[in-house]
Amino acid sequence: MEKLTDIRYVKAVLEKHGFTFSKALGQNFLVNPGVCPKMAAMCGATAEDGVLEIGPGAGVLTRELAHTAKKVVAVELDKRLLPVLEETLAEENNVTVVQGDAMKLDLHELIRREFPEGRVFVCANLPYYITSPMIMRLLEDRLPVQSLTVMVQKEAAQRLCAPPGTRACGAISAAVQFYSQPEMLFSVSAGSFLPPPKVDSEVIRLTLRDKPPVEVTEEAVLFRVVRASFCQRRKTLSNSLSAGLSVPKAQVSSWIERAGLPPSVRAEQLSLQDFAVLAELFRTESQP
Ligand code: SAM
Repeated sequence: MEKLTDIRYVKAVLEKHGFTFSKALGQNFLVNPGVCPKMAAMCGATAEDGVLEIGPGAGVLTRELAHTAKKVVAVELDKRLLPVLEETLAEENNVTVVQGDAMKLDLHELIRREFPEGRVFVCANLPYYITSPMIMRLLEDRLPVQSLTVMVQKEAAQRLCAPPGTRACGAISAAVQFYSQPEMLFSVSAGSFLPPPKVDSEVIRLTLRDKPPVEVTEEAVLFRVVRASFCQRRKTLSNSLSAGLSVPKAQVSSWIERAGLPPSVRAEQLSLQDFAVLAELFRTESQP
């Protein structure tokens, strides 16, 4: 079987099917032979498990996953890649390619239908233009999956994996921590792709938590408070929260004091527990 990391072969197959790369769809295909076997091994799926892949491209990671897992379902938006995948995955009998937009498909239904039993893992080299919304969708939808092992741009990886209380932390880092335990796994240079993107990438793994690390009455309120806290990064928490939640500053200052935080505290200094305390004060004292 020809290797999908052999640039000449990939180019020939793509050319044969009249395929040209779309920047808008984040099409940078992996051609570094070391990356996909490592991703497939580190995603945690065994021969008993299912894998959901988003954006198979020409199928380079899909093939590795097919050799690791029991079954792979790969969702690809670009219809032009369907004949390519038919050719490159012809020898894999445990792969189903689904054409569709992974941001819009009913993934619960897809998982129920395609993986009626056993564990499911997500593994993907995500298109960069939807990295964060895609990850948030996969987490917020509470899909019945064990973990997400995904390749993202380095900067996005650092933000997604930043623990609360650190400088790099933003609203998305707090959300990621709420739903999962994130880890940075390994770096991938820009030269590993065809065509090469402008920046390096990182493979990260988000292992879903059985239960959130903090208890809140309403998750939506917690995330409203988190978003408001980070909406004006350079301001103090009292200013951002007051503006973001439309609550008088004096009231916000009193919550900050009652949460045991210093008056000049900034959002990136807060732990998830601090956000949970503030969310509960907002819910009980300000919400109609
Ligand atoms: N997995 C391949 C690899 O590693 O070489 C391709 C990865 S490429 C970075 C991203 C892939 O996602 C492309 O094949 C692109 O067409 C596909 N894609 C883009 N937007 C998508 C969406 N909304 N839903 C599903 N696939 C999408």
